[in-house]
Amino acid sequence: MLEHDVIIIGGGLAGSRAALEIVRTNPTLSVGLIAKTHPIRSHSVAAQGGMAASLQNADPTDSWEAHAFDTVKGSDYLADQDAVEILTREAPDVVIDLEHMGVLFSRAADGRIAQRAFGGHSHNRTCYAADKTGHAILHELICNLMQYGVTIYDEWYVTRLILEDGQAKGVVMYHLLDGQLAIARAKAIMVATGGYGRVYNTTSNDYASTGDGLAMTALAGLPLEDIEFVQFHPTGLYPVGVLISEAVRGEGAYLINHEGRRFMEDYAPSRMELAPRDITSRAITREIRAGRGINPDGSAGGSFIYLDLRHMGKEKIMSRVPFCWEEAHRLLGIDAVNEPMPVRPTVHYSMGGIPVNTEGRVRGSATELVEGFFAAGEAACVSVHGANRLGSNSLLECVVYGRRTGAAIAHYIQNRKLPDLDETHYLTEAADQIQALIDQPGTYRIAQIRQQYQDCMTQYCGVFRSESVMQEGIAKLKEIQQLYRQVRLDDKGKDWNTELIEALELRSLMIVGEMILTSALNRKESRGSHAREDYPDRDDTNFLKHTLTYYSAAGIDIQYMPVIITQFQPQERKY
Ligand SMILES: Cc1cc2nc3c(=O)[nH]c(=O)nc-3n(C[C@H](O)[C@H](O)[C@H](O)COP(=O)(O)OP(=O)(O)OC[C@H]3O[C@@H](n4cnc5c(N)ncnc54)[C@H](O)[C@@H]3O)c2cc1C
Repeated sequence: MLEHDVIIIGGGLAGSRAALEIVRTNPTLSVGLIAKTHPIRSHSVAAQGGMAASLQNADPTDSWEAHAFDTVKGSDYLADQDAVEILTREAPDVVIDLEHMGVLFSRAADGRIAQRAFGGHSHNRTCYAADKTGHAILHELICNLMQYGVTIYDEWYVTRLILEDGQAKGVVMYHLLDGQLAIARAKAIMVATGGYGRVYNTTSNDYASTGDGLAMTALAGLPLEDIEFVQFHPTGLYPVGVLISEAVRGEGAYLINHEGRRFMEDYAPSRMELAPRDITSRAITREIRAGRGINPDGSAGGSFIYLDLRHMGKEKIMSRVPFCWEEAHRLLGIDAVNEPMPVRPTVHYSMGGIPVNTEGRVRGSATELVEGFFAAGEAACVSVHGANRLGSNSLLECVVYGRRTGAAIAHYIQNRKLPDLDETHYLTEAADQIQALIDQPGTYRIAQIRQQYQDCMTQYCGVFRSESVMQEGIAKLKEIQQLYRQVRLDDKGKDWNTELIEALELRSLMIVGEMILTSALNRKESRGSHAREDYPDRDDTNFLKHTLTYYSAAGIDIQYMPVIITQFQPQERKY
């Protein structure tokens, strides 16, 4: 059996920042960091636009309180305000800390860290490294982990969380290289497995964003929080869905419809293109529904709108958002200096996740904490984003709460022993499950079932939702889940069996999707990203509360938990 003081699942920004904090606090601690990709291929590496912090470099009137208010208003008042205060207060410090580690942020003319505008933020406070911010930060963090001697298990897939008697004790893991199974135990386990964008058919997320950590937590009988809140980013490149960063609008690009009109003046006149993402995605969807979208031949009525950078000029485009120019050029042959880019909303971010307190400890219910179990980053819900995340607050959350969770773990394990667990039992069970999947005499290929499933989630639980449509979606989902039992794997081998991994990932996607749909059905109001056509208003009397969703094969159970309000009383949200 493998043993460490701490095991972290996930090598993105949250997992690697936590690992670094643990070994910085106590270099004698042994940390095992497991990732199904190489850590520097975690989705964090793709983050483009930047990380918010009220450094006051671009705008001396900014403050952490202003950042906190923008975040709470952006969340449609569902965020826990104690967690938001920590996020925004600690932001300047974590940026400077990253800078000292060697992260190459873009600079203002006077040499200080540059800061740009971002949607829903009232001041220019987003720090960036051109439009490759995640790349700059993650590489530096991983270099640091190597220096500190953290053990990295790259290309190991965690199949199960071992939770016994209310305590997280270890994990079951599978080596992609040769099919070896192993059990690892530790005094504390942390989940930092990122989001679930692949639940939908059009997403900005990478292929590995399949919600595994959420599914394994739910399968262990623990709840997920606010999982109905799915962020649609307004500008996914049409038709592929890859992200064109909000930084492009932050630097001045326009959204225009078929009439060539900046239609955001109808939806958010004071913020225009820099309204929060939920409002902008709904505006684009409404324009398309009203026949003011554009077709690939440029005629009216089609399913995208334009992101227009032409007035920005070549020099600005190439220095501030070169990667976005390159994406449109490489994928569609479009030169954004001279032509507008076709875009439409794409699934981007998970506001909900594994419920944690502000020390990263996982909640087993509204009132209990689970022993030995921690989470941070996109997989967790602390909840700083509530019903809608502001751009550039997620990298910030990963670093602030990654650091806090790492510090909390280093403290927590001081007087704890390695837990006892029956290695043989878990190894046999995992080997049997994998063999059963390989031997299954099915007729469907994974890609067929996954496509049907992703289409179902996209159609029945998208930007706009309603009772009858979601009920239909749940019925459809149950049918597709039955097909999973008839999946056939062609690869029966042990070496690099990516087909097997895809089958395991599909299981995660299906569990998470069912939890999203069911929680969305139960929230009979519109708040942030959750827009119900049958309940168009926010309902603070009945729904100013967090959803806690429990999964079991017998059915899904929903409970609720209060929202923490400190400084900002809920108001109508206008931009
Ligand atoms: C294209 C794009 C651009 C973005 N731009 C920005 C931005 O500019 N600013 C901003 O604030 N936010 C941005 N975001 C959001 C932000 O990047 C993410 O929310 C954040 O990076 C998530 O980090 P994480 O550490 O939680 O997870 P990730 O970086 O997704 O890492 C997850 C890790 O978990 C591992 N893992 C998953 N499942 C398993 C398993 N079963 N077994 C073992 N390992 C597993 C993966 O291998 C990986 O190492 C962007 C997101 C996207 C998709």
